[in-house]
Amino acid sequence: MPSPQPGELSPSQGLEVIDAVASFGAPVPVLVFTGGDPLRRPDLFELLAHARERSVPFAVAPAVTDLLDARALERLSTSGASSISLSLDGALSATHDGIRGAEGSFDRTMGAVRELAARGARVQVNSVVMPRNLTELPKLFQLVRGSGASVWEVFFLVRTGRGAVVEDLPPDTWEEAAHFLLEASRYGTTVRAIEAPIVRRLLLTRDRDPVSSSPEKRALVRQLHELLGPPPGEVALRPSGTLDGDGTLFVAHDGSLQPGGLLPHSLGRLPGDDMVKVYRHHPLLRAIRERRLHGPCGYCSYRTVCGGSRARAFTATEDPLGTDPACLYGSTALPPLSSWSA
Ligand code: SF4
Repeated sequence: MPSPQPGELSPSQGLEVIDAVASFGAPVPVLVFTGGDPLRRPDLFELLAHARERSVPFAVAPAVTDLLDARALERLSTSGASSISLSLDGALSATHDGIRGAEGSFDRTMGAVRELAARGARVQVNSVVMPRNLTELPKLFQLVRGSGASVWEVFFLVRTGRGAVVEDLPPDTWEEAAHFLLEASRYGTTVRAIEAPIVRRLLLTRDRDPVSSSPEKRALVRQLHELLGPPPGEVALRPSGTLDGDGTLFVAHDGSLQPGGLLPHSLGRLPGDDMVKVYRHHPLLRAIRERRLHGPCGYCSYRTVCGGSRARAFTATEDPLGTDPACLYGSTALPPLSSWSA
């Protein structure tokens, strides 16, 4: 997009958003500047400075474009950001460049990761799992481990926005990818799963789950072991974490408040509404946090630890409290839920 969308928050309104985040009080939430590309905002570094002054911890997720030059890398690495994240969606340049639609993006991304790490920044690599890169996940993890990044954040595709045209994966393949992430977390690099709360359910069920523990569902894990050898540690992922609206709140470019960046259901708007009140008291967010969900997610024994991806449920059913279609529990081919109980 050559120019901002209509209604983009002005510089002074951007400062007000940061003040609103600070008003949550201790512990102040982490504010993530993402996009699109936050570097397209001419006032980005003023906003980062204001966050620092207001003691709001922040992270930045720039896009890899010509704007991410040596000067921008230097300014970002000295900005006080707790983390700088870059997207890498393939272990091969052809895969990543193909997904991004930008030749040379793979090399520029790897260069930026190494440069930021060399400057002492805490670098996070973000990857989206989709049919096109699924079999590359073990190699991608190997690449991330050798790049200087300390965190690998893996998003399970939600078919909304640009992802709407990407083919989806069936639930048993998501389950395989979830097994893989649990195993990858045993190698010392911090691994996080986003829009993939079934990983938390799997932590509790994987040893006795008749479907997901079958060997043919473990091809990615086998590849991981072949590449990196036996894992040296225990599974580091934990059966707790955020969901859209439960630990997260998204502020869109025009100030619209949403449960998450991939869940475009407006809860209010800045300036005008009180961000803290919206987060704490909006009926939809309370229902998500209390797991008053619909369908299998509503009666599943694991809804408290898991809860399903609210964004994926919304994309599939237009109901933010609906069932996550990536979960095997939504399949009628499964044994009764009572036999899966904790
Ligand atoms: S049915 Fe819903 S809450 Fe239960 S494990 Fe699946 S996604 Fe999670």
